Amino acid sequence: MKKIVIYFSCFVLIFFIFPMLFSKRDKDVITDTSEQLQSQEENTNQDLSNKEQAENQGEYEYKQYGTLQLLHSKTGEVETVKLDEYLCNVVSAEMPADYELEALKAQAIVARTYTIYKINHKKHDNSDICDDSTCCQAWISKEDRLARWQEDLRESNWEKIEKAVNDTEGKVITYENEPINAFFHSNSGGITEVPINVWGGSGYPYLQVVETAGEDAYSQYASEATFTQDELIGKLKTKYEDISIDFSNTEDIKILEYTDSGRVKTIKFGNNEISGVETRSLLGLRSANFEVAQSDGKITFSVKGYGHGVGMSQTGADAMAKQGSTAEDIIHHFYAGVEVKDVNEI
Ligand SMILES: [Zn+2]
Repeated sequence: MKKIVIYFSCFVLIFFIFPMLFSKRDKDVITDTSEQLQSQEENTNQDLSNKEQAENQGEYEYKQYGTLQLLHSKTGEVETVKLDEYLCNVVSAEMPADYELEALKAQAIVARTYTIYKINHKKHDNSDICDDSTCCQAWISKEDRLARWQEDLRESNWEKIEKAVNDTEGKVITYENEPINAFFHSNSGGITEVPINVWGGSGYPYLQVVETAGEDAYSQYASEATFTQDELIGKLKTKYEDISIDFSNTEDIKILEYTDSGRVKTIKFGNNEISGVETRSLLGLRSANFEVAQSDGKITFSVKGYGHGVGMSQTGADAMAKQGSTAEDIIHHFYAGVEVKDVNEI
C-alpha cells in the first residue's frame, strides 16, 4: 500500500506538478517578453509621437545651448532668449528673405554655429552675444522686421525664415568635432579672404581662400567712393596726424602689395604706408578689395565686394543655391574640411 502511495505521488509529480511548474515558468517568460515588446513598442510610439510633435512645433531639445544671454547694445539690457527663436531674428536681420531657401538654411546653420562659438568664447562679460553686427551678429525684433517688409509679404517672409531655422534645428558646423568660428560677410567680390589678412592672428584651417561664381549679379559686388584731396587728407588724419600727400606725384598714392586673394595689403599715402583693411575702415569703403585712381583733383576708389571677405559670402550662398546647391553644399564650399553635425552629438 505504501509503495502504491509513493508510485502515485511520483506519477502526480512527474505528469502534473513538474509540467505545471515548467509551463508556468515558460509562460512567465513568454508573458514578460511579450509585455516588454509591447512596452517597447509603446515607448517607440511615444518617442515617435513626441518627435513628430516636436518637429511640427519646430522645437528641438537642446542638451545645452538651448538658451542664451543676448545683450541689446543700445540699451545695455540683457535678455534670455531661446536659441532657435533668436536665430529667426538673426537670419531675418542678416539675409534678405527673398534669397533662396537653401541660402537661408545655410545662413541659419552658420549663425547657429557662430552663436555657439560665441557662447563658448565669450566676448562680453555679462552676456553670450550682442545684437551689433559690427561686434557680434545682427539682430532685429520680429515687430521691427515685419514693419520693414511690404505688408502682403510679411507673413510668408517670416514663415520662410522660420522654416530655414526649423529645417536645420540643432545643426552646426564642426571641425575636429568642435563648432567652428563661422565668419560670414555680404559679398566676397568673387573670392574670399583668410582671417590673418583682416585681423592678424594665426587663422583657422577651415577658413581658406575660395572662389565663387555669380556674385557679380548682386548690387553689393561693385561700388565706388570718390573724395576730394581735402576730404581724403581729413579722413586719413584721424589716425595719421602727420599725413602729407603730393597729389601732383602719381607715385604718392600707390598700392604696394596685394594679398593672395587680390585685396590690398599695403597702400602708400604720401609719407605713410597703410594696410588695406585700415584704409577701408578710415575711408568707409565696402571692402579692402579696391583699385585707386586720380582724376580732376579727385581720388576714386573702385571697390569689389562688401565686408571683410572671410568665411561664407551671403550673396555667394544665394548664387550657389540658384544653381541648385543645398545648404550643406554651400557650407562645404566656404568652410574647408568641416562637417555639419547635430549639436547634441558632439
Ligand atoms: Zn558683441
